[in-house]
Amino acid sequence: MTDTLAPAAQATASFLTDGATSVLDDAKRQLAAAIDILGYDDGLHAMLAVPRREMTVGVPLRRDDGTQQVFIGHRVQHSLTRGPAKGGVRYSPHVTLDEVRALAMWMTWKCALLDVPYGGAKGGVALDPAALSMSELERLTRRFTTEILPIIGPERDIPAPDIGTDERVMAWMLDTYSVASGYTVPGVVTGKPLALGGSRGRASATSRGVVHVALRALEHVAVPASGRTAAVQGFGKVGRDAAKFLTDADISVVAISDQYGAVYNGAGLNILDLADHVDKTGRVVGFSAAEALPPHELLELDVDLLVPAAVESVITVENAPRVRASVIVEGANGPTSTAADEILARNGALVVPDILANAGGVVVSYFEWVQGNQAYWWNAQDVEDRLSEKMSRAWDDVVSTARIRGLTLRAAAMVLAVERVADAHLLRGLYP
Ligand code: NAD
Repeated sequence: MTDTLAPAAQATASFLTDGATSVLDDAKRQLAAAIDILGYDDGLHAMLAVPRREMTVGVPLRRDDGTQQVFIGHRVQHSLTRGPAKGGVRYSPHVTLDEVRALAMWMTWKCALLDVPYGGAKGGVALDPAALSMSELERLTRRFTTEILPIIGPERDIPAPDIGTDERVMAWMLDTYSVASGYTVPGVVTGKPLALGGSRGRASATSRGVVHVALRALEHVAVPASGRTAAVQGFGKVGRDAAKFLTDADISVVAISDQYGAVYNGAGLNILDLADHVDKTGRVVGFSAAEALPPHELLELDVDLLVPAAVESVITVENAPRVRASVIVEGANGPTSTAADEILARNGALVVPDILANAGGVVVSYFEWVQGNQAYWWNAQDVEDRLSEKMSRAWDDVVSTARIRGLTLRAAAMVLAVERVADAHLLRGLYP
C-alpha cells in the first residue's frame, strides 16, 4: 500500500504540464483556461491543479476457485477546501490513476458549481465486474474499503456509485466501514439502498438533472422540446432513466447504445420495452422494435439533442466535425475532448458541460447525507423540488456568466466553480 501526499514543489510543475493521458490533459486544460480568465497566479493554479491526497492500493482477492489475484485501486482527493471530499467509485478495466485524478478534479468543480459543501474525490479499481461472481465482488469491495479506510468517512471523504458499481456495492462499503468503527455509520457513503438510509430519488437523480438542463438548453436555443429527437449513448444508471425522462417530456429518443452495440428506430424507441429487453439479455442489440446501428454513427445522427451518458473521450477531434445535434448534454464525465469542444463551438452547437449536466447525482447525494445527519427523511417530492431548484439556479448562474463574459457554457461553468474554490482557499489561508 502506498499513501502519497500531494507531490512536492518540484513535481508541481510537471503535474501541470507533463504528458498525461488525454482525459487528465483535458481536465488540466479546462482549469488552465479558467485560471487565465480569472487572472490567478501560478501558485494558486498549482494549489488547484494538484490533488491534496492520493492513495493507491493493491487489492488481493481470493477467487471462488481458490486462486489469488491482486487488483489495483485508487482513491484521489482533489480538494478538501469546501468540505469533505465527495465522489464515486468506478469498477472498470480502464481505470487508471490519471483517469481517477481527472474525475476527482471535475468533482471539485461540480460540487462548487452546484454549491454543495464538498471538495472533490474519485476512486476506482481496475477490473471487469462482469468477470467476478457476486461473492468475489463483495470480498473485493470489502478489501478495497478496508485499504482506503484511513482516508474515508462521513467528515473526510464520502464515496458513491459510478460506472460498474451500484447501491449493493455501497451497502458493502457501509457495512465494512461500520464494522471497523464499531457502530453503524450511514453517512460514509451515498447512493445506498433506501433500507440503509438512502434518499428517495437518488437512483434517478443524475438522469433527472440531465433532462432538466436538456430542457432548459432547448428552451435557450429557442427549440420547443415537444416533438424533438434525441440520441443517448449508454444505457446504464444515467442513460436509461435519462432516455425515459426525455420520452416523458415528449422528446423522441431514436437511438441508444451500450458497450456492445446500438439500436435505432426513427419513430422513437419504446424505452420501457427496451429496458425489459436489456434486463433479460444484458444488451440493447437484438431489441425487436428497432434496427441495429453501427455504434459510432449514434454520435453523428441528425437529431436535436445528443446525450453522451457512457464513458469519457467519445467526442473527439476526429468525429466532432460530423456531430449534427444542435444541443449536446454531457451525461457522462469528460465525453468531449478539448479540441472537439472547440470544433463543436465553431459549428454552433450548444454543449452543456458535465459539471453542470450530470450534477443531479451529487446534489441528491448531498441531500442523502443531510437527511442522514438529521436522521429525518424527506419524501420524493421534496427531493425532486429541491433538486430542480438547485439545477435551475446553477443553469441560470452559468448562462448569465457566459453572457456577461462572452464564454461558452463550459468555460463559464469552470470560471464560476474555480472562483468559488479559490475564494474558499484564500479565505482559509495557507497552513502553516
Ligand atoms: P453504468 O456502468 O451504470 O453504465 C454505463 C453504460 O455505458 C452501460 O450501458 C455501458 O454498456 C455503456 N458503455 C460503456 N462503454 C460504452 C461505449 N464505448 N459506447 C457506448 N456505451 C458504452 O455507469 P453510469 O453510472 O450510468 O455512468 C455513466 C457516466 O455518467 C460515467 O461517465 C459516469 O462517471 C457519469 N456519471 C454518473 C453518475 C451516477 O450517478 N451514476 C453521476 C454523474 C456522472
